[in-house]
Amino acid sequence: MDGAGRAWSRRGVLLGSLVAGAALTGLPAGPGRALASTGAPGRAPVPPPGPPVAPGPPAVPGPVGDGLAHAEGVPAPYIARCFEWGARPPSSPPQIHDVRPIRILVHHTAGPNGTDYGVPAAHALARGIQRYHMDHNGWLDSGQHFTISRGGHVMEGRLWSLGELNRGRRVVEGAHSPGQNVIAIGIENEGTYTGATPTPMLWHSLRATCAYICDKYGIAPTELYGHRDFRDTLCPGDRLYAALPRLRREVASLMGRRVSRTEVVRSGWPALRGGDRGPAVEAAQYLLRDSGFYRGRPDGRYDARTGAAVTALQRAHRAGRPVCGACGADAGTGVLGGLSWPLLARPVRLGSAGVRGGRGAEGSGVPGGPGVPGDDVVRAVGVLAAARNTESVPDVVDGPAWQRLLSGPGTPVPGGGDPAGVANR
Ligand SMILES: [Zn+2]
Repeated sequence: MDGAGRAWSRRGVLLGSLVAGAALTGLPAGPGRALASTGAPGRAPVPPPGPPVAPGPPAVPGPVGDGLAHAEGVPAPYIARCFEWGARPPSSPPQIHDVRPIRILVHHTAGPNGTDYGVPAAHALARGIQRYHMDHNGWLDSGQHFTISRGGHVMEGRLWSLGELNRGRRVVEGAHSPGQNVIAIGIENEGTYTGATPTPMLWHSLRATCAYICDKYGIAPTELYGHRDFRDTLCPGDRLYAALPRLRREVASLMGRRVSRTEVVRSGWPALRGGDRGPAVEAAQYLLRDSGFYRGRPDGRYDARTGAAVTALQRAHRAGRPVCGACGADAGTGVLGGLSWPLLARPVRLGSAGVRGGRGAEGSGVPGGPGVPGDDVVRAVGVLAAARNTESVPDVVDGPAWQRLLSGPGTPVPGGGDPAGVANR
């Protein structure tokens, strides 16, 4: 740990105790003033994180926000800037795009669920991620826009992300999910949430940070997604992913908005992996067979042969190479997620079912239009419809219809991606 981080840490403790005493005005000049000073005139200063928070009951608030009512907008959480956590300078200047992002992608770091909730540990986490992204991945800086530690400390990821957020008009190009690096803000959350849930401090900071980002950029609180919605990864873990409807609802509440259950529940692409069983796996096997990647008899068991077929599909579409530093562990392991599902579950017109030899969209003769389904595609629809007790399937099974068949009712996960020319760098 370096000297700058230690000095900042001490100041954080000092200011935190002042805040605890409700002495919110007249804070000494320090990191805590910086963010507020770039916000709207008259906004109350926002304190830096308080002292390290010990594990406690779910009601323990995380060290973000000042808890005060603001005349306008959403309270700004304290976000430590790159220089505060001891970041290295980027190897080249980050790109800035003159557009507002339209969504937020939630990630987990897939690292240990540590119990050091202090500021120094948070800063060490940010430095470790940056080191990996620059030295291992060869990126110019941290890939994500923001990082949140298990102690609830929020930090800027890629340089300039915070300044552009505070201005609310432009976005720094990230490297957290190819195809979503400009249109989506990426937040890395420390830990692995496959079987565990985030700490209350992390959760509190995540929702506060999302609310602030949504408010500044004009993003709807329902536009929060998991990395798996767009890539073949288990990120941000089954438990954190399952909490996204709650996150959307709570972020909306922080923004003073009401959202319906249909709006917060998303109907997306299920992240399938080895060992899974059920109708979604069986449908995937039929679709893989239709695409020529699987030769077996679909049985609803995600076995090694199914995984090999998924990996072959991803290689054929150049989707299998590691793309997310923190989530690279899933690359090439046969996870079938939001990137590969649309390759398999192509739009088809069931009215033409029964036509033999069709191969999805190629059979339609209409570029981009619904294709003629092969027998296996019809079987895949049938398996899913039967599992959901669906009486009627729409004549045209497009992306949203496939998502509803696979995941049940909800608002479909949208497509859309970065403008051309954005790479992962
Ligand atoms: Zn991720």
